[in-house]
Amino acid sequence: MALASWIDLIMCFLLFLLLIYIVATVTITKLHKVYLAFHFSMLIWPYCQFAIRTVDDPLYQLFYVKLAFVDASLLGLGWIFFTILLAGQSQLLTKKVMAALLIPAVLTSLGVVLNPYGWFVRPVNGGYVERIYGPIFWISMTFLVINALVSMYVVYVALTSNQAARIKNQVMYMLKGITALFVFLMIDVLLNVILDDYLPVIPGFTSLGIVVSATFFVITIHQDKVFDIVTIAHQDIINTMEYGILVLDDQEQVVEINHSLHPYIPLVTGATFNMSSYLPDGPPMEIEPFLQKYREYPLESAEVEILHPLIQMVVSIHAAPIMVSGSRVGRIVTFQNVTEIRRLIDETNQQNLILKERNDSLVKVQAELFQSNGKLRKLAITDSLTGCYNRHFLMQQLEQDVLRVSDTRTPSTIILIDIDFFKKINDQHGHLAGDVVLCSTVELLQRSLRPSDILARYGGEEFIIYLPDTNGAEARLLAEQLKSEVEHNTIRIDYIDEPVSITISLGLLSIAEFKIPPAMDATTYLNELFKSADKALYAAKHQGRNQIVAAEV
Ligand code: GH3
Ligand code: MG
Ligand code: MG
Repeated sequence: MALASWIDLIMCFLLFLLLIYIVATVTITKLHKVYLAFHFSMLIWPYCQFAIRTVDDPLYQLFYVKLAFVDASLLGLGWIFFTILLAGQSQLLTKKVMAALLIPAVLTSLGVVLNPYGWFVRPVNGGYVERIYGPIFWISMTFLVINALVSMYVVYVALTSNQAARIKNQVMYMLKGITALFVFLMIDVLLNVILDDYLPVIPGFTSLGIVVSATFFVITIHQDKVFDIVTIAHQDIINTMEYGILVLDDQEQVVEINHSLHPYIPLVTGATFNMSSYLPDGPPMEIEPFLQKYREYPLESAEVEILHPLIQMVVSIHAAPIMVSGSRVGRIVTFQNVTEIRRLIDETNQQNLILKERNDSLVKVQAELFQSNGKLRKLAITDSLTGCYNRHFLMQQLEQDVLRVSDTRTPSTIILIDIDFFKKINDQHGHLAGDVVLCSTVELLQRSLRPSDILARYGGEEFIIYLPDTNGAEARLLAEQLKSEVEHNTIRIDYIDEPVSITISLGLLSIAEFKIPPAMDATTYLNELFKSADKALYAAKHQGRNQIVAAEV
């Protein structure tokens, strides 16, 4: 044949190589790849059976016969690999097992391809449409049977193991598929090889078996979504999560356990999970209620935090039911290592405690400071000897008050008081006696005043009383009363036999009546006021003391 007529076939092979390349390199699971290879090898057999009859040249016929049987060896391997993966028994695929499966397949394929001395197949009537099989065919058939039996064994192992119901269901379909293929293959061998001399050739048995088994495989794949990329992605996510995840069925059997949890809870799928065996023996208090809730109220979520004594980790365990159409089908238990979070919380709590203590002591210091300030403030405005207000405080108060009082014409009065002949007391009885007299007089004056009135020591033995909301007449009445009380007050002094009595002179000034020059500041105005009051006091002294004189305004 000319080269040109091979071009299409070469292109076909190139396309096939591209398909193999893409399947081998894209990120699909091993299961996907095995299935695609398996399905492809299933396709080859019926195609070859058809092709043998389409060519007259015995050489091509032989090519297709050989291709079909090499493919059959691969098909046998495909069965086993696919069954193992689908049954979740990939741990069986050790190097030794792989070698034990691959070597016979390669050797028989080699025998088929080389066909030495016609030991695989010999032509009938110069062609291979009808053919006589030799010992290599029977060896190849034996391996196929062995492959089918091994696949069935894998299925058997999967069915009898503690696999989840989902996997068992899957495996049952596998078994049906393998059995169908096995039965059809045996019928084909029986009718078309063994009884070949007595019966006409009936084609298509093995191909039909392949289609039936492939249908079962496809049903399995669809039913359980084994190829579903989302399911696989979920699986990957669950396995790469830091959380330990345990999925249990309603009998507390492990359906799934993720990689994070497996080192701590080495349970395999199907094993029974016993919650209490993974909790510390003794108290803490929360464990018993948690276990009780876990066992008796499986429809509710339960949560507990434990300090695991072996791994020295604080683990938060959370169990929640898995509900399907209103009924519980199992539960999901998560294990979270919260050691670090717990440590941070404890540390934060400790810091908070320290801060609170510091805050408390600051509040205490603040209270003390407030008290001290109060004392200082009082000291600053109090006359140290007599305990009444001092001149500084009086001036402050008056500065604030006096302009307003004058503006609004609110009646208010000041009385300037001076003790008469006080020097004499000092001279006669001593300075200390003078002090006692000062104190006693202040006490007496204070008794007759209202809380709003201000009695302040103006200097030496001089005092001022500021009477807000008091007119001249009212002030005079009060002044009379004070003058009389002082006059009749007898002051006892420890070391003096006779009690001491004094009199006072008073200068009265009604502020509301005092004419204020326009635009005068408070201090100047006050000075003017005092000057005027002083004049009145001076007049009282001049009139013989123990007198009250109202200032002229
Ligand atoms: P007059 O009737 O004119 O007011 O006579 P007086 O003696 O009261 O007046 P003078 O101003 O001459 O004397 C006031 C005296 O008051 C002089 C001073 O020693 C005395 N004195 C001033 N402050 C105190 C004080 O705090 N304690 C005592 N014991 N005496 C004081
Ligand atoms: Mg005086
Ligand atoms: Mg005096």
